[in-house]
Amino acid sequence: MSYDSNNIFAKILRGEIPCKKVYEDDHVLSFHDIAPQAPAHILVLPKGPYRDMNDFAAKASPDEIAALFRAIGRIAKEQGLDETGYRVISNCGANGGQEVPHLHLHILGGRRLGRMVQAA
Ligand code: 5GP
Repeated sequence: MSYDSNNIFAKILRGEIPCKKVYEDDHVLSFHDIAPQAPAHILVLPKGPYRDMNDFAAKASPDEIAALFRAIGRIAKEQGLDETGYRVISNCGANGGQEVPHLHLHILGGRRLGRMVQAA
């Protein structure tokens, strides 16, 4: 499956749609989720055109991979989540419940998040 450059996060990355930016560097953009599921709900994206974790794991450079994970740690610390704890999720494909086909990781925190997966 190829990358769809009309997805909503591609438009945010191109500056066509606004976002509440949290962090940016050469490889990563991070912003607040528009429909937060917890007091802190932050999205972290590679800037490259990767559809999902499968695509990123197969094709991203070591610099891109390092930047994404360094950014998550940095954002968690800057947002004051590192001490109280948080959850990092990436939904992949149909069973993962992925809605936007540009790889993103969710950082969730600010309260006890409960069970990781709800009963179906
Ligand atoms: P997914 O289900 O693909 O893992 O998560 C997509 C996330 O993107 C959802 O949590 C949704 O609220 C968020 N989202 C969808 N459209 C927008 C948007 O235009 N701006 C922002 N900031 N978040 C969005």
